[in-house]
Amino acid sequence: TAAAMMAAMAEATAGKAATHPAAPRTRRHYDVLVVGAGFAGAVMAERLAADAGLRVLVVDRRPHVAGNAYDRKDAAGILIHQYGPHIFHTNSAEVFDYLSQFTDWRPYEHRVLAEVRGQRVPIPINRTTLNRLFDAGLESDADAAAFLAARAEPVAEVRTSQDVVVSAVGQELYRLFFRGYTRKQWGLDPSELDKAVTARVPTRTNADDRYFTDTYQAMPAEGFTAMFEAMLDHPNITLRLGTDFAAIGDEVTYDKLVYTGPIDEYFGCRHGKLPYRSLRFEHATLPVERHQEVAVVNYPDEAVPYTRVTEYKHLTGQRSDVTSITTEYPAAEGDPYYPIPRPENQALFKRYEALALAEPDVLFVGRLATYRYYNMDQVVGQALSVYRRMNLRAPATYPV
Ligand code: FAD
Ligand code: UDP
Repeated sequence: TAAAMMAAMAEATAGKAATHPAAPRTRRHYDVLVVGAGFAGAVMAERLAADAGLRVLVVDRRPHVAGNAYDRKDAAGILIHQYGPHIFHTNSAEVFDYLSQFTDWRPYEHRVLAEVRGQRVPIPINRTTLNRLFDAGLESDADAAAFLAARAEPVAEVRTSQDVVVSAVGQELYRLFFRGYTRKQWGLDPSELDKAVTARVPTRTNADDRYFTDTYQAMPAEGFTAMFEAMLDHPNITLRLGTDFAAIGDEVTYDKLVYTGPIDEYFGCRHGKLPYRSLRFEHATLPVERHQEVAVVNYPDEAVPYTRVTEYKHLTGQRSDVTSITTEYPAAEGDPYYPIPRPENQALFKRYEALALAEPDVLFVGRLATYRYYNMDQVVGQALSVYRRMNLRAPATYPV
């Protein structure tokens, strides 16, 4: 039978290897080595292989593709996100159309509630939030705008994450929704973080309770990991998981390197460690059909040790008698998940960026390598434009 033949062949190969233990390993040559199989690495690899026709080796030190967007079925069969909730949203038709080559979509609009003063109210703060918390009786956008204007404390120059919120909604709402959450999430006071961090969460005067207002809001129908598998499934792409860039040595040669890991690590942290914030994820399956009314509940109260709880079935539409959740505990040590946006970190990044610019055959792409607090769609957009700038399809660069 075929199975018996395969077994015999495997045995023969094993025997051969055993009798020639010192046989020299052949050095393989690739046009490009891509370090990291997350969004940055996968998009670069796909374009380089499928569009430019180059031979690409992709390595990732983790045992799976998809980087931080990795999802998998847990023991109860529920699709969970190993590294916390990933919700896809974008205003870019280019990014959405690009990814649509590799997945179908399930329309999904994200909603989040924040637990404050013993109530669960919509975040971003909207008219409903104000009416629930303050019994404010606000009936229109104009009512809500006036209510907020009366509380807002104008700041001469909006510089920090505290300024953004206080200048829009005042101290009370700032403390209720932002101060504790931010101190937990970042280990810093909002006054020590760039305004861009809390500016991710707007304030609304209408009753729109969606977390995002982007044109495209959807989840990959079979999950992120399946989408990545489709992206990387190309004859020009070789994938080696569980493989650290540092372990590659001179085993393979390549003309260009695409690096999507932490930029300071690439340069041996020679200017000092670039700060990244980490999280500890606690995954659990509960014997109930539904745990909470929306996908994510935020806990801004500083006395609560975690920041948010995610229930995945809301994101995926999966049905089951049980449900799986993830609780996020911020941490100083651990995998680098977030660059920390503040001036001194940006200054240190610039020193590493200067080193990067001096290496024309290495391209630094993605959230860790460019030290930018980017969403998934922004990383895809960045990778597509880095690829375009390589100009590989320009006739002049092709050998004749
Ligand atoms: P990563 O996904 O980090 O991939 C980098 C890969 O490189 C990793 O797999 C790593 O193992 C590998 N690597 C690093 N160094 C080496 C090395 N030396 N050798 C081999 N491999 C190496 N974005 C959204 O749009 N919506 C969301 O809802 C959202 N939620 C998020 C929630 C959390 C908790 C986090 C942390 C991020 C979230 N994001 C979200 C952001 C999203 O995760 C990133 O934008 C995106 O995954 C970044 O892709 P990347 O390829 O740049 O980096
Ligand atoms: N934030 C907050 N309270 C909230 C939600 C967000 O203070 O209820 C602040 C906090 O600093 C957080 C930032 O806004 O890190 C960005 O929030 P987002 O939900 O975009 O964070 P991410 O999903 O990237 O972790």
